[in-house]
Amino acid sequence: MGKTKHGGPLRLPKTPKPGLWVGPVPLGLGKVKPHHITEMFKTVWRNRDNLPYAWRILSRGVCDGCALGVSGLRDRTLAGPHLCTTRLNLLRLNTAPAIPDDVLTADIDDLRRMTSAELRELGRLPYPMIRERGERRFRRVPWDEAMDRIAAKFRAVDPKQAAFYLTARGLTNETYYMAAKTARFLGTNHIDNASRICHSPSKTALRRSLGIGASSCSYTDWIGTDVLVFWGSVVANNQPVSTKYIYAAKRQGTKVIVVNPYREPAMDGYWIPSVPESALFGTKLADDWYQVNIGGDIDFMNGVMKHWFEMERREPGSALDLAFISRHVNGLEELRAHVEGLSWDDIERGSGLSRGRIAEFAELLARARNGVFVWSMGLTQHRFGTDNVTQVVNLALLRGFLGRAKCGLMPIRGHSGVQGSSEMGADPFSLPGGDFDPETIARIEQVWGFEIPKWQGDIVGVTLENALLPDDHERRLRLFYTSGGNFLETMPNPDRVRRSLENIELRVHQDIILNTSMLADAREAVILLPAKTRYEQEGGGTSTSTERMVYFSPEIPGPRIGEAREEWRIFLDLARRVKPEEAARAMKAETAEEIRAEIALAAPNYDGIQHLRHQGDFFQWGGMWLCEDGVCPTPDGRGRLIPIASPGVRRTAGTFMATTRRGKQFNSMIYGTRDPFNGALREDVLMNPEDAAELGIADGEAVVVHNRFGRFYGRLRTAPVARGNIGLFWPEGNVLFPSGVYEPHAGIPEYNTEVKVEKADIYYARQDRKYRSKDADAEEGDVPAVAGAGARPCRTE
Ligand code: SF4
Repeated sequence: MGKTKHGGPLRLPKTPKPGLWVGPVPLGLGKVKPHHITEMFKTVWRNRDNLPYAWRILSRGVCDGCALGVSGLRDRTLAGPHLCTTRLNLLRLNTAPAIPDDVLTADIDDLRRMTSAELRELGRLPYPMIRERGERRFRRVPWDEAMDRIAAKFRAVDPKQAAFYLTARGLTNETYYMAAKTARFLGTNHIDNASRICHSPSKTALRRSLGIGASSCSYTDWIGTDVLVFWGSVVANNQPVSTKYIYAAKRQGTKVIVVNPYREPAMDGYWIPSVPESALFGTKLADDWYQVNIGGDIDFMNGVMKHWFEMERREPGSALDLAFISRHVNGLEELRAHVEGLSWDDIERGSGLSRGRIAEFAELLARARNGVFVWSMGLTQHRFGTDNVTQVVNLALLRGFLGRAKCGLMPIRGHSGVQGSSEMGADPFSLPGGDFDPETIARIEQVWGFEIPKWQGDIVGVTLENALLPDDHERRLRLFYTSGGNFLETMPNPDRVRRSLENIELRVHQDIILNTSMLADAREAVILLPAKTRYEQEGGGTSTSTERMVYFSPEIPGPRIGEAREEWRIFLDLARRVKPEEAARAMKAETAEEIRAEIALAAPNYDGIQHLRHQGDFFQWGGMWLCEDGVCPTPDGRGRLIPIASPGVRRTAGTFMATTRRGKQFNSMIYGTRDPFNGALREDVLMNPEDAAELGIADGEAVVVHNRFGRFYGRLRTAPVARGNIGLFWPEGNVLFPSGVYEPHAGIPEYNTEVKVEKADIYYARQDRKYRSKDADAEEGDVPAVAGAGARPCRTE
C-alpha cells in the first residue's frame, strides 16, 4: 500500500474571491437555502437540558454522522472549525434522557400511531424489554433474562436460520468487529450491515478492477486537482463540510463537475458557515452539469471513452495516458473494441445527453493533468451498480488518475460506520482484513482460534426474504438480531418487509431509541436491548472515515442511561452464554483496548489501531494513496479495464424513470418536512417543467405516481430534472420499487423504477370507471392492495 503519509490540514486563503460568489446580496436573502444560524439555535434549544455534555461531545468526540470524519471540531484536510447541521441534528440522540416507563410500556397500538420521528423524540431506551406474541405491551426484563432467552434460541435453531444486521451510524469498529466474530463463533455467516444499501457495489467494483476496497485518495487531493467530478453524489447535503473542501479546491482553480439527473440546488450554490465570504455571499460550487438519465451513466461513460478513442485515432496520446496504461493497466484492446462497436444513437438515447455534450466532458478530462472522481448512491443504487462504478474506474485508468497527488477514486460514505463495517468483517463477503475467501478464512481461524463456517452467508435483503420461506427450509429465518436499522423505512416494498419481520420467531433489536420496525409483531417475541452511544462506551471507540483515517473517540463524561451497555459487550456476552466453554478460550478480549489489539492482528491494514487511546489519536491506513505510483494490489500489480455493456434502461412511451433523493434527514431519520435547498415537501414529485406542461399538470397539483409495485400520492413540483425522469423523496418513494431485485455482484437493492405519473383527478376517474367496467387496463389490475403506504394522499374529498 501507499508509502506517502498524509501531510495534515491545509489553510484557506484569507482574501475573498468575489468571482465565486452566488451573488452580491448578503446572506442569500430571498433565496431558498438552509439557515445555519437558526439551526444552531434550534440545536441549543433541543439540547438545553444537557448542554455541557452536548458541548463535550462536539468538542471531544468523533462525529457519529457522515464518514467525512472529524475529531472534535478539527479534521485533517483544512485548518479551522468543522461542524455541520447534520451533526447538530443528530446530537439529541446522544443527549436525550430515557423514555419514561409509562410511555415505554404503553399499549402497542399507541406506540404504533407514532411516526419514527415521534418515537425518536421519546428519548433513549433504558432497559431490556420484551413483548411476547399476543401481548399488548413491552415489559421490562433483567439483562440476564433477556440474554438467556436469546442464547437459548441461538442454541435451538440451526445457525443458517439465525442472522445479524448492523446499522452504519454511530457504531464503532470495535462493535463491528465483535459482531462479526460473534456471528461466526455462533456458526452463522448471515451478517450484514447498512453499507449493503449504499456502497457495496463500490467495494466490489474497486476490488475487481484495482484490488482495493476503499477510497484510493484523500480529501486533500480534491484541493487543486484540475477536475473534480461528483457522480450521483450530493455532498453538500450529505457531507456538508465537504463544501468547504470544494471551496478550497475552487480557490486553487479546480473545475467542479456534477453528473446527476437533477440539478441539485445544494451543488449549485452553498453558503458555507465557517468561510466568512461564503457565509455572506454563498459559493458557486458546480462549474458545469451533465444531467444524465436515471440509469444512463454507463452509456454516458461509454460515450466519453468512445470519443477518447476517436481522438486517439486522430492523434495518439491526445486523450489517453498511454505511458500509464502500458505500465499499469490491462485490457485496453478489449475495452477499445467494445466501445468502438457501440453506436452514438444508442449512447445518446441511453444517457440522455447529446454527442456534443459528451465530447465536451471527454475533452475536459483529456486536457486535465489530474482528476478526482467522487460518487455516491446515484451510481451504486442500481441493479447494475457495480458496473456503474467500474466505468468510473475505467475512466480513471485510461487517464492515469490513480496513485498520485490530486488524483483518485472516492466512494464518499454517508454514514460514520460504512467504511469500517466491512473492514471489520461485518458482512457476508468479508472477514477482518480481507474477503470471505479460503486464504482469509484460514488466517482468521488462526487469530480467532475457532472454525469459521464455510458456507456463503446471505445479504440482508435475502435474509428478510428468508423469513417467508416454508417452515422446514434450512435457511428459514427464525432468529434475527439487529443492531439499529429500520427496515420498514429503508427497504423497497415496506408491506413485504413487514410480513417478513412478523414471520420471524424471535427478533432482537439492540438500539438507543425506538423505531417503527421494533413495533412489528413476531411469531414468539420481540426483545429490545438498550445500547450505549459511542460517546458512552468504556474505553472509547474508533471509526474509519471515507479517506481511511481511523479516529479515536474517547468516552465522554456525562449522564448515563439506565442499564444501557456497550454494544461490543452485549455481543461478547451473547457468545459466552451460547457456548461458555469455547468462549472462555476464543472470546477473551474483555475491554475496548483488548479488542483493538485483536483487530490489529486480524486486519493487517489496521495495525496501529492498538495505539489509539487519547482524544485526537488517529492514523490513515494505506497512506495518502492506495495504488501509489499506479501499482495495484492485484496479482500482477496492474489495474484492469473491464468493458461494460449498456444496461439498456429504456422507458416505454408515456412513462418516467423514478429515483429517490434525501431532504432534511439522515438516512431514514427525517428532521424536517421541507427540503431546505429547494423548498420541496416530502410528498413532492420533482419533474421537468416541459414534461409537466406536456402532461398538462401545473405546479402544486395533486398527482399519482404508480406502477405495478405501488402507488405514491404526491404533488407536482417543477424542477430542473432531466426530461423523462422524476425525483421522489426517500424512503417515501420506496412503495414504487420492486423487492427482491438485487445487483448481481454486490447485492444492493434496486432503487429506480419505471412509473406513470397522472393528475390525481384523472387517475381517480379511471379508478371509478374501473369499478363500473371490466375493461380496466391491465397495468391497473396489477396494482397490489398495499400500494400507497408511506405517502399521505393529497386527495382532499
Ligand atoms: S460533514 Fe459529516 S463528519 Fe463533518 S460534522 Fe457533518 S456529519 Fe459530521
